[in-house]
Amino acid sequence: MLKLVFASNNAHKLKEVNSILEDSGIRVTGMQEVGFKEDIDETGTTFRENASIKSHAIHNTLKLDCFADDSGLEVEALQGAPGVYSARFSGDHGDHAANNQKLLSLMKGVENRKASFKTVISLILDGNEYFFEGKVTGDIANQLSGEGGFGYDPLFIPDGHSRTFAQMSEDEKNEISHRKNALKNMLIFLNNRSVSG
Ligand code: IMP
Repeated sequence: MLKLVFASNNAHKLKEVNSILEDSGIRVTGMQEVGFKEDIDETGTTFRENASIKSHAIHNTLKLDCFADDSGLEVEALQGAPGVYSARFSGDHGDHAANNQKLLSLMKGVENRKASFKTVISLILDGNEYFFEGKVTGDIANQLSGEGGFGYDPLFIPDGHSRTFAQMSEDEKNEISHRKNALKNMLIFLNNRSVSG
């Protein structure tokens, strides 16, 4: 069985990733399980750079196969903001309530509500780095709805749906999420690799 360390301290994301990869034959462990406790500074200006910084931090220290993801929300009317700064949009890292309030006030009266969540994964396997991307498009709602998920979920209505991510069950969100799409692309790569090699 392939073992991969997931370079994230976010328990919610680790749970999401584990449920998405449940039947894949890949065992994913969190950073804490392998004793990695340092904070990794996300100093990149793109999702790709930040994902790469995180996977390299694990690999350089532990020499284990690992992957990291970096995600965020890009809003068309805000020229792609908050983007790579999604977690820090309102200043305080990870203050989801304040981030949502800031987004709502910037979008007040704005007609074009199109947005997308994007994920880039950096996988380091046998010392080589590979990138995978995932995306889900949708609209920014006019008000917060739902209790589930995290981050901007109460404001994001995926295309083809009438409810926000926060109003969906975890399984429903995981079927269509940006992270799911990026993980699916990584899985296709890993499955092809095990068939051919
Ligand atoms: P991360 O790189 O996946 O940790 O995401 C950075 C930030 O983007 C998070 O703190 C959230 O603000 C936002 N974000 C990423 N993925 C999601 C999601 O699935 N739902 C809601 N917000 C998200």
